[in-house]
Amino acid sequence: MTQKVLFSEMIMKINLKQYGLYLLRWQLSTPILAIVLIWLGSTSKLFATVVANVIGGLFFFWIDRFIFTSPALQAHWEIQDTVLCCDCGVSARGYRLVKTKNYDKTRAIPKFRCEVCSEKKTQQLRQMGVLV
Ligand SMILES: [Zn+2]
Repeated sequence: MTQKVLFSEMIMKINLKQYGLYLLRWQLSTPILAIVLIWLGSTSKLFATVVANVIGGLFFFWIDRFIFTSPALQAHWEIQDTVLCCDCGVSARGYRLVKTKNYDKTRAIPKFRCEVCSEKKTQQLRQMGVLV
């Protein structure tokens, strides 16, 4: 039970936008591997796989660098399954904006909001110039 909660909390602290792009990026390695294995099919499979991985690495280094360093992907939300909304007091799934390019609450005491209050707060932050 405790491990399940910890795993759930760990998943919720991941930047889901970065994680999704990273998983999509991994799918791109499959066609490269397949094409190179066909192209170098007359050689050993080990050699063809090494060549495919070198080719993939040449591209994916830059894609991974973008995924993990681009300011466009820096909006980081924390989501908890059940919280008391700090604005309306409803028990619901809670959302908290942790960090964007010009907003950083990584060291603040976490305040979670229900979906409705989170949308209102997000609009307020946008009006204040926060890039979210
Ligand atoms: Zn609320």
